[in-house]
Amino acid sequence: MPTLPFNMSLAESILHILRELLPQQRPIGLHEPSFGEREKALTLDCLESGWVSSVGQYVDQFEHDLSTYTGIPHAVATVNGTAALHTCLQLAGVVCGDEVLLPALTFIGSANPVAYLGGTPHFVDCDVATLGIDPTALALYLEDIAELRGDVCYNRHTDRPIRALMVVHVLGHPARMAELADIAERYHLVLIEDAAESLGSWHDDRHTGSWGQLTALSFNGNKIITCGGGGAILTKDPELAQRAKHLTTTAKEPHPWLFEHDSVGYNYRLPNLNAALGCAQLAQLPERLSQKRVLANNYVQAFEHLSGVHLHQEPPNCRSNYWLNLLLLPDVKARDTLLTTAHTEKILLRPFWTPLHQQAMFKNSPRMLLPQTESLFARGVCLPSSAHIIG
Ligand SMILES: *Cc1c(COP(=O)(O)O)cnc(C)c1O
Repeated sequence: MPTLPFNMSLAESILHILRELLPQQRPIGLHEPSFGEREKALTLDCLESGWVSSVGQYVDQFEHDLSTYTGIPHAVATVNGTAALHTCLQLAGVVCGDEVLLPALTFIGSANPVAYLGGTPHFVDCDVATLGIDPTALALYLEDIAELRGDVCYNRHTDRPIRALMVVHVLGHPARMAELADIAERYHLVLIEDAAESLGSWHDDRHTGSWGQLTALSFNGNKIITCGGGGAILTKDPELAQRAKHLTTTAKEPHPWLFEHDSVGYNYRLPNLNAALGCAQLAQLPERLSQKRVLANNYVQAFEHLSGVHLHQEPPNCRSNYWLNLLLLPDVKARDTLLTTAHTEKILLRPFWTPLHQQAMFKNSPRMLLPQTESLFARGVCLPSSAHIIG
């Protein structure tokens, strides 16, 4: 335990601990990519092959490797995680006028694709242990506002269909999937998992993303592994996988020379060059996960004896990837003092994303009461969490 001088403010005490634990590098961000020899070798090989675009062996290899790693039978690689979610929602049957339940405490990329389809995000509260949707609060809420008319769940207040439930594994911590899957079944909602932050996170021996009918991953530069930009759709269902691939490749009918398309599709296929990088990164994942566990443990120990703060740990029976480490402070004032002082010395801490019901375009979206979302947003600060920082 570091010994702290008396009378240090809470922010100063936290910074003191961070200075001891972090490397000297400034600025230091939340999550920085790192590349080794394999990344160079595979991207060079891809360049030399000439197959840099939307067809090539690395795309197939990357999909195969993702499916093997997660144990989810089918993977379809996309240009980014938002495109993957857009496709998942479309395959879930979300159409103009529908509502989709999703947490308020997530990145904007979870909600935007609902709006792309003319749907309305309907915001749900989270629980403090998992940071994901609170199934107990959701079940109570749905008893109040939802009803089944035939096979379709309706929001009694807006008279709109609620088509899907999108669960997000926030900061890499698995949400309470068994209970959430139950709710989805009871209300005939398509279950979608936004696992953009949770590659390498498990509930018992099930990888996150294996409950949903459709799951999205992201390989953006700030995620646990990166393709530069990239994403994937995962599913157990071979027919959904086939439709996902079709939709993300302009819905072109197979033919040796004719370009005929059976619907309005998307150019969402991951380029081979990005997939080559992804293959090399995925091979690094197991080692990266163990480094990130060491870092998380170091943070836990470093903050254990500082009163007023709490370092968030993985939920029971879960193995999180610890994508970003989260420190909880007493209140918003303490959070803002810490953010201000840390940024003056280029330790680029960040709060959670501003909750989605507070974002301009979703201000009028339906929501339940969101006390945990608001409390976590007021108190949470994400700490530098790159795997190569092992304090
Ligand atoms: C990163 C992220 C996305 C979007 O992924 P992109 O690849 O950046 O489009 C969606 N949802 C969550 C929770 C994310 O963290």
